[in-house]
Amino acid sequence: MIELPVRSLLVVVSAPSGGGKTTLCERLLAEFHQMVYSVSCTTRAPRDGEIDGTDYYFISEEEFERRVQNDEFVEHATVHGHRYGTLRRFIERGFASGRDVLMDIDVQGASQIREKLSTLPASDALRRGFVDAFIAPPSIEVLRKRLHLRGKDADAVIERRLQQAENEMRRWREYKYLIVNDRLDASYDALRSIVVAEHHRLLKNED
Ligand code: 5GP
Repeated sequence: MIELPVRSLLVVVSAPSGGGKTTLCERLLAEFHQMVYSVSCTTRAPRDGEIDGTDYYFISEEEFERRVQNDEFVEHATVHGHRYGTLRRFIERGFASGRDVLMDIDVQGASQIREKLSTLPASDALRRGFVDAFIAPPSIEVLRKRLHLRGKDADAVIERRLQQAENEMRRWREYKYLIVNDRLDASYDALRSIVVAEHHRLLKNED
């Protein structure tokens, strides 16, 4: 049998909140057992049902700033007035153990990651394994309905998120893949196909 090398993917997905991204990510993690979710730190309060250490590490402003100073984040950004950051150790550990790492981050974070990776040698595992996808709702109106249906945010918060979503949606061209999330099943098929195809790309890119 041919020994195939283990190659990890760094899968970055961005979507305006309410875009259906959380469900899509959960399905990916349920199907691809070698994939780990990068649990971010945030200064926002937990929503109903969110678990500290699973959905996010919910930390204070002071704690967040301390971690920024300690260079613990590979990227961090302020979204909807709250701070969010990806822990360097999550990605390093994932890659060290031969796993794929899934990151759900905003457009600013994704652009920071792209910029950092572009300074690494082309042979770097992180750079090689990087793939990004933008998941867009079919329209702002659909997004507004979804956010209201979800019922987790106050009206003013929803309006702020919609404003932000319009800004984010202008940046889909920065991503390698675009998924318009009209029907969840079709979107999931697209996302899983991307993961499978990208693994095959990595296999081919041997030294
Ligand atoms: P939410 O508060 O709805 O969970 O997330 C709000 C936004 O923050 C989403 O667009 C999400 O992708 C983004 N986000 C979550 N974690 C991170 C992170 O670690 N870094 C960055 N830059 N954005 C994040």
